[in-house]
Amino acid sequence: MRQNTLDELRDQLDDLDLQLIDLVNQREILLQKNKDLRPERADKVLERMNLHSKGALSKETLIGLFKLLDQIGPAGKPAKLPELLVSRKNKPENTVVTVAGKEIGGGQPQLVAGPCAVESAEQVDAAAGAVKARGLHFLRGGAFKPRTSPYDFQGLGEEGLRLLKQAGNRHGLAVISEIVDPRDLEMAAGYLDVIQIGARNMQNFELLKEAGRTKKPILLKRGLAATIDEFIHAAEYIMVHGNDQIILCERGIRTYEKATRNTLDITAVPLLKQETHLPVMVDVTHSTGRKDLLVPAAKAALAIGADGVMAEVHPNPKQALSDASQQMNFTEFEHFVNELEKSGLYKHNKV
Ligand code: PEP
Ligand code: MN
Repeated sequence: MRQNTLDELRDQLDDLDLQLIDLVNQREILLQKNKDLRPERADKVLERMNLHSKGALSKETLIGLFKLLDQIGPAGKPAKLPELLVSRKNKPENTVVTVAGKEIGGGQPQLVAGPCAVESAEQVDAAAGAVKARGLHFLRGGAFKPRTSPYDFQGLGEEGLRLLKQAGNRHGLAVISEIVDPRDLEMAAGYLDVIQIGARNMQNFELLKEAGRTKKPILLKRGLAATIDEFIHAAEYIMVHGNDQIILCERGIRTYEKATRNTLDITAVPLLKQETHLPVMVDVTHSTGRKDLLVPAAKAALAIGADGVMAEVHPNPKQALSDASQQMNFTEFEHFVNELEKSGLYKHNKV
């Protein structure tokens, strides 16, 4: 580029920068004179900015810019950061995630059940039959299994998703399965009603960003050792990238206690419901790892306000290729649902 053209362009850029400073100053003076202007809902502001922006700025850059502007505040006194998009302060009403016409977070708790992993057409079909027979609407089953050992069964991959969907279709159940690779999300959306992000991937930020770009509801599980704040921020990654259909799932955290597989943090449920507007579920199987604790843990979850409970059920748990000791057989599953119904905390629902 010729030197004088470059000089001209630099002058233009300097000019724009000066105009920007003037505008930011004007904005700040307006805010300082009118204290009531600040608390407008961040999502409304962002929506307006996003619609207005016709240039090169992405939605994320706009959000960053907006946050920066809000931090400037009067000299020496940085203003409070805007609330997170997932925060209840930002959106007081509950988010209800509707999946195939069934509501999660709509007031009636839902049960999600199915095998740890999809192992064969027959196995997943039998599990789906048992889940449907007890009046549930949601079938789970892993196809991409995040196993501790690389020598353990890793799941059937896309074929597993296909078998899960086939069983779901046959029995009229919505299907949920974990995806571990951002490159698989688009493919998975063709099979699943809800995409699960597992504990080990709660802070896989590229996966969270990509999950934000899909239109499918996301069931986000709490990380193995994640704080509530980290969990909430992981959900924020999904929402800020465009997907507000998020269900949080407490699944126990790692502590020194060995009597249970993980330590179920039951107070996470009301805490998450206070702090965010998202539905919250509890996975009683992976948190306790013990079949004898499934009923009391599920009752506790529902009593404390969970919007749903997840548990594993397998036609022949002893032969299961993963989590053999913690999956219920059909008789145990019957008992599990009966006990929850008897407690009055859960009832078969049509919504
Ligand atoms: C699962 O739900 O299949 C699972 C592996 O759970 P988590 O990610 O909570 O360990
Ligand atoms: Mn499992």
